[in-house]
Amino acid sequence: MEVSVDRTLCEANEICVAFAPEVFELDDDEELRVIQPNPPESELERVSQAVASCPKNALLMRR
Ligand code: SF4
Repeated sequence: MEVSVDRTLCEANEICVAFAPEVFELDDDEELRVIQPNPPESELERVSQAVASCPKNALLMRR
């Protein structure tokens, strides 16, 4: 699985962080960082929920 963020769309509201804190975090500049760009399959459910819940459609997931 591969996950990335389009920072030009992201508004850093941390919704994805709430769903998958092992994969996403806000950095010191309050920009979203993908900590694990290739998360394990065990994160699939949480990452899928994060992607589906992003109000800006800023997350892209590929399997
Ligand atoms: S849910 Fe979307 S807009 Fe919010 S921080 Fe995550 S990527 Fe950015």
